[in-house]
Amino acid sequence: MIEEPIHRCGDCFQCKNGQSNVCQNFSITGMHTDGAYAEFTTVDETFVHGVPESTPLREAAVAEPTSIAARAVLEQSSLTPGDRVLVEGPGPIGVLVATIADSIGANVFVSGLDRDAKYRLPLVDDRGIETVNLAVDAAEDRMTSFTDGRGFDVVFDTTGHHTGVEDAVEHVRKGGEVVVIGLPGDGSELRMTPVVRGEIRIETSYGSQWRDFEQAIRLIDNGTIEPAAMLDTSFYADDPTAAFEAFLDSETCKPVFSFD
Ligand SMILES: [Zn+2]
Repeated sequence: MIEEPIHRCGDCFQCKNGQSNVCQNFSITGMHTDGAYAEFTTVDETFVHGVPESTPLREAAVAEPTSIAARAVLEQSSLTPGDRVLVEGPGPIGVLVATIADSIGANVFVSGLDRDAKYRLPLVDDRGIETVNLAVDAAEDRMTSFTDGRGFDVVFDTTGHHTGVEDAVEHVRKGGEVVVIGLPGDGSELRMTPVVRGEIRIETSYGSQWRDFEQAIRLIDNGTIEPAAMLDTSFYADDPTAAFEAFLDSETCKPVFSFD
């Protein structure tokens, strides 16, 4: 069993309207209520999903970020096979977005920063997906040649930083689409004139719904997502700080706690 952490109220307009990920009265496990850094926890059965016997529990642990990536790529974007796609940010959501986009036949490119060069970008490289370190001089040239100078059809911003959206608008082609997944934070200096002149669609994707979760579990079970490659099980629940520090320093991608 695995818990869907965004708890919808089931009663508001959005919930009844099939938009439960933007429920007006949602609560998030670990933010509004205690999380599950414990051997045992109780969960309302409404938010529990079954895990196939063929999926190890430690792999099912990435169902939640996979559901977010699945929603962004398969529900919110207009991505089609053959599209040239830039994924900004090689964190867990970025890696999962890139993997799902790759699995439906898109040509995927993942960008990261210098601090991603040691662990996260090589992780994506190992999956046969092209990567670029934006701090390297040739970065822009490589993106230009990847898109024949046109820009990307779709750019997913998973950076969680306001400059991610600004960069996305620079790298998307005219008539293309930007999908913002991370919360970009304040301070954006996004200039709307080039967005309108280029008729660039700006789409957002927030959290996930019940169906995205079910889809994520299937994508893990059928091998589209291979969590083993991105999981880092070297952390323990009795020292969560170590995992958060390593994560923030980009020294790991997806820490999963061991309880033994
Ligand atoms: Zn609701």
